[in-house]
Amino acid sequence: MSQPFGTSDQLRRVLLIDDSELDRRLVRYRLGVENLELIEAPDGRLGLEICRREPPDLVLLDLGLPDSDGFEVLRQLKNEPRTSSVPVILLSASTLSADKARGLDLGAVDFVSKPFDPIELRARIRVALRTKFLQDLLEQKAHLDGLTGLANRMALEERLICEWAAVQRQGGSLAVWIADIDHFKRVNDEYGHTAGDEVLRRAGHTLRSVVRASDFVARYGGEEFVVIAPRCDQSNALSRAEQFRAKLERTAIPFDKSLIEVTASVGVAAVPEVSSPGPLDLLVHADRALYDAKAAGRNIVKTWHCAMGLTTAMNGHGSILGNGKVVASA
Ligand code: GH3
Ligand code: MG
Ligand code: MG
Repeated sequence: MSQPFGTSDQLRRVLLIDDSELDRRLVRYRLGVENLELIEAPDGRLGLEICRREPPDLVLLDLGLPDSDGFEVLRQLKNEPRTSSVPVILLSASTLSADKARGLDLGAVDFVSKPFDPIELRARIRVALRTKFLQDLLEQKAHLDGLTGLANRMALEERLICEWAAVQRQGGSLAVWIADIDHFKRVNDEYGHTAGDEVLRRAGHTLRSVVRASDFVARYGGEEFVVIAPRCDQSNALSRAEQFRAKLERTAIPFDKSLIEVTASVGVAAVPEVSSPGPLDLLVHADRALYDAKAAGRNIVKTWHCAMGLTTAMNGHGSILGNGKVVASA
């Protein structure tokens, strides 16, 4: 059978929560031919624990469990953000329509009566896994920028809110920077839109290459990119932003028979150096620094720093970074 679960090579993790050793053995035996990793839990408590630790691709859930009924386990799975999107197929000796309806209303995707027919069970598992695969794919696509392969604005805003919450909980630093290609319109005008697209891809690639693997890079809009750098203070963020600026300036981008040269201006804002009431304000501060960088002539990194005077050198030690193109705005 080709690509039974929507993907050819990925082993799908299926968690079976059932107290009956005999039923577990039957399922294990009947699913043995499929490309599945079957994990087993004999009660609801362990089942929930496994799901919370590493959500599986599918849960097969027996309704009659020793420690709590399956409906309660289902309710908890669907209530918790980490597990709410895991599809659940209910297994039960009950043939009552009321039980089936209750399970489906609580969020189960399917209901299989025991004793189950193995061919039917396998087919229903395949349908549930295929649907889950397509859902994950859609979710991923909704968060990706099609041109550069980077995260898009929606993903960026979600991540910024998460990182902000982490800083509120644990303290530490968080930097955000916005990079905007200078005079990008001219690239389109001079070389054409396809060349402009290639420049955007290469600029995104250059940006990704200078930040840490754990930093988050997104295409924010047309020719604007944003980096979210957790545990990165202002001075570090400035050095990285300057690295990007310098690297992009040095990189001639081949297109057709031309080599296209572009530069970028960057605005940086970081907590705790900047006091910011909320995550999106940090972005606004970075945007303001970017605006100042444009006004200062472009191809420059600026940071927004409320406590400093005008255009102070901003690598945190009073010295100017790189070629002197890093400055702060008041
Ligand atoms: P500045 O230095 O002030 O940032 O000037 P700019 O020309 O870079 O900025 P402006 O906002 O005037 O123009 C941005 C241009 O980016 C206009 C728009 O057509 C182009 N653009 C936006 N999205 C894309 C895209 O996906 N591909 C291409 N090729 N161009 C795009
Ligand atoms: Mg621009
Ligand atoms: Mg712009």
